[in-house]
Amino acid sequence: MNQFQYVRATKAQAAIDVVAKDPNAKFIAGGTNLVDLMKRGVVTPQKLVDINRLPLAKIETTGTGLRLGALALNSTVANDAQVRAQHPLLALALNAGASPQLRNMATVGGNMLQRTRCTYFYDLTMPCNKRQPGSGCGALEGINRMHAIFGASSTCIAVHPSDMSVALVALDATVLVSGPKGDRRIPFGDFHRLPGDTPEKDTNLEAGELITAVELPASPFTKHVHYQKVRERASYAFALVSAAAALDIDGNNTIKAARLALGGVAHKPWRLTAAEQVLVGKPATEESFRQAATVAMQGAKAFKHNEYKLRLAPNTLVQALKTAAAA
Ligand code: SF4
Repeated sequence: MNQFQYVRATKAQAAIDVVAKDPNAKFIAGGTNLVDLMKRGVVTPQKLVDINRLPLAKIETTGTGLRLGALALNSTVANDAQVRAQHPLLALALNAGASPQLRNMATVGGNMLQRTRCTYFYDLTMPCNKRQPGSGCGALEGINRMHAIFGASSTCIAVHPSDMSVALVALDATVLVSGPKGDRRIPFGDFHRLPGDTPEKDTNLEAGELITAVELPASPFTKHVHYQKVRERASYAFALVSAAAALDIDGNNTIKAARLALGGVAHKPWRLTAAEQVLVGKPATEESFRQAATVAMQGAKAFKHNEYKLRLAPNTLVQALKTAAAA
């Protein structure tokens, strides 16, 4: 691991000032991904600003919903009574991620900022535009069975690994950040980026900006929800494909509203607004779910080894919807 300076911050503005002024400085909280990346030499920050002592771990109600502090642990959020009652989809997604040990270290903000698990990104002997812009993409002509089927570019076909983020994009969350230019709010769907020509940028955060919280609006999706994750072993594995489904169903089994998103298919959690619209006013039946899944897959494109995702993604979505409807 490269040598680095360690600074412990007790004030958010001081932490922001340090990182904003120094392009080689990074915030660190749980460190569950960053330390791995540093050990492998994928990232080599010269300064780490430890933000664990900042007062950003609260889970609290607001006038419009629930606010999750950026330093709230994944396990704390997943087990929180308010989260489980008001946003059970989020609790399900969190518990599908990583392992209990990691969930006890990883924070809300860090979960959103974790990097892709593309093996070429971690292998310093291979080209990777995300790790080293302009070097090429090892996955394009390499083994790409874990890679994107939506929104990829000729420079990067990686997927975002977070389960939590798939639920948050479906639930219309908002990210609160503070930075050198002040505070701002970013709709969750605009937080992560598609790779385009700049795959080295995973998010739309600007230099020195610190995630302080995530807000969830009050939601009718408290009962008919499910997070379906398909992976190669029963736990502690990233999604081949995952689906977040939330339905509001009336007494006649008619869908009043739906929220849908896929994970493991794109460089960002992949919201399915067109498919949601297909479901509104329809009966909560497998036929309706299949129609929505067909719409959800419009524009999907496979690479040499991930054609299976063109079948797995719609089937996972339908399974998530069936389980949600039956909940
Ligand atoms: Fe790097 Fe993206 Fe290509 Fe993976 S898919 S090798 S992360 S550029």
